[in-house]
Amino acid sequence: MSERHSVDEYLETIYFLAFPIGEYTPKGAGSPPLASRVAEMLHVSRASAGEMLKRMEAEGLIERGARKEALLTGAGRERAERVVRKHRLIERLLTDFMGYTAYESHERADEMGDTFDDDMIERIDAKLGRPERCPHGWPVDPDVEQRENAELAPLAALGPGTRATIVRLAEHDGDLLHWFYDQGLVPGTAITVQRAEPAADQFTITLAGGERAISEKAAAGLFVKPA
Ligand SMILES: [Zn+2]
Repeated sequence: MSERHSVDEYLETIYFLAFPIGEYTPKGAGSPPLASRVAEMLHVSRASAGEMLKRMEAEGLIERGARKEALLTGAGRERAERVVRKHRLIERLLTDFMGYTAYESHERADEMGDTFDDDMIERIDAKLGRPERCPHGWPVDPDVEQRENAELAPLAALGPGTRATIVRLAEHDGDLLHWFYDQGLVPGTAITVQRAEPAADQFTITLAGGERAISEKAAAGLFVKPA
């Protein structure tokens, strides 16, 4: 197999793009799941993403929309929801039981996705006391996640003066996820937007430690609940 990523990882990516957060979606979130966008998120070539999407279409997991975007079929959506739930529970196993940091847990969980079958996942869920969220704030239950999406917005979509609480962190970029933790930009943190200058690729926010400038990419990956 030439792809570095499994069908499940592709499903996870398409699922993320299929359920945009908030009403206003700046670039970075909520763009249609085109092969180019999927390739960018998975750090693979456009050609290998296209090849994999073709295979997933043949397997009935996705169909192509008018703009060639990848749309989850019923079967694809069901499997994608199982995949994301599993990923979030494995992350909690890694942080709560094995002592990994939150940012380490995401990558490790991707590597371990195939290790546990559905029965094992149910046992892990029960042993962990049925956690509500992954370490990065994403609800374990995809129904809860999809309902909550409407209440959240990417920080990049907020105007100056808006106060908000960080609820979820984008996970697909490992370096960015690490940076969020380095900066203390973690779920539950209250912030205020001071200045928003997307043209200058700069957002300034205040949090407990004072003012901080963050890039638009980072602001697009912080999903917050406006106060
Ligand atoms: Zn997570």
